[in-house]
Amino acid sequence: MNSKCVVTVKKGREKPILSGHPWIFSGAVKSIDGYREAGQPCSVIDENGQLLACGYVNRSSRITVRVLAAGTAAEGIVIDGAFIRGALERALDLREALLGSTLVRGAGSAFRLVNAEGDYLPGLIVDRYAEAVVLQALTAGMQRLKGLVVDALRALLRPSFIYEKTDPHMARAEGLDTAADGAGLCLDGTLRSPVVIEESGARFQVEVDSGQKTGFYLDQRRNRAILREISAGMNVLNCFSYTGAFGIQALLGGALKVLNVDLSEAALRGAVENAALNGIDPERITTMKADVFPFLRRVEFPCDVIVLDPPKFAAARSEVAGALRGYKDINLNALRQIQPGGFLMTFSCSGLVPEELFQKVVFGAAVDAKRPVQILRRLHADVDHPVNIAHREGQYLKGLLLRVE
Ligand code: SAH
Repeated sequence: MNSKCVVTVKKGREKPILSGHPWIFSGAVKSIDGYREAGQPCSVIDENGQLLACGYVNRSSRITVRVLAAGTAAEGIVIDGAFIRGALERALDLREALLGSTLVRGAGSAFRLVNAEGDYLPGLIVDRYAEAVVLQALTAGMQRLKGLVVDALRALLRPSFIYEKTDPHMARAEGLDTAADGAGLCLDGTLRSPVVIEESGARFQVEVDSGQKTGFYLDQRRNRAILREISAGMNVLNCFSYTGAFGIQALLGGALKVLNVDLSEAALRGAVENAALNGIDPERITTMKADVFPFLRRVEFPCDVIVLDPPKFAAARSEVAGALRGYKDINLNALRQIQPGGFLMTFSCSGLVPEELFQKVVFGAAVDAKRPVQILRRLHADVDHPVNIAHREGQYLKGLLLRVE
């Protein structure tokens, strides 16, 4: 792969690049020489010809360059199989150090191997689910490198199959051919779905092909374990339940009953199957297909604990105000329903809503609900979802564990 494309950055726009920010927006670009196609490797220089970074370029995207190496680390770099393999090996070593080799190497192992920009591989998500590996190559550049990624994953993890899931929203932003929502493609081996994974002593089915995102929300692993710790003797309302993972952990922690609410029938079927997989008495789990917004206004369930884990409400800046109204609404109505002395575990996965702002909205909800609230924990994605400190945008999931008077 040659990297004859050279992107020159405007004077005064070098600093974020040298500080490690992985995105170069079109407004910072002075000129592009040698451009042939979206996703091709490039060098990034300043107006004096000094090398700033290397990465890949896409003129059809608002983010013209995504950086793979910056500063002195960019000197002499070739983006080839050895580069990708090295990056994946480092990502795997980090997971082993953080999660332990039993979790990473075990039969039902489930973890995020690559968290895109957070692992210095912009555009690439890789999740391991037992014998399966599911990836998302979200940019034109990562689409070009996909073959090298698959080779490296095969050698490193020896999975039964490697499956690719698309993201139509990202595909549009990158000018890629838009595949159908959630469509997938087997890149290596033979698809076998669902696969069964283990998480903190529970087992879950993951529908690799038909599930949401890559099939499971690994980012919530630690927060589900926290819920399990506080659930003994409680009735738990699990809103936006997907396949019921929070509810299963609560039940394994001694919760009396769980009610899962979601709009997706397939997800709720998965929740029932997951309960059976964990030997849970069907009497203790109920599912309801409903829109959480109106549902929370007329709950007929004694809620000692409510979990609110909604989908991303804001995908663009123009949607932030509406997202904040949405968070206010569900948190207010949840707080009104919680029994005195109960808990609210509330999340936002909108990267555009900063943590302080989310807390402010929840505070406003507590004031309106006239419920004194204590913050017990601040919650984030689990450790296999690292964030590059230069890249605020990568910090999407935040939550609060609250005790409600
Ligand atoms: N807590 C889950 C992940 C939740 S993902 C876990 O730990 O696995 C968000 C879920 O919200 C999806 O399953 C989606 O189907 C559901 N959803 C989206 N909008 C909804 C709405 N208005 N009412 C109910 N469910 C909704």
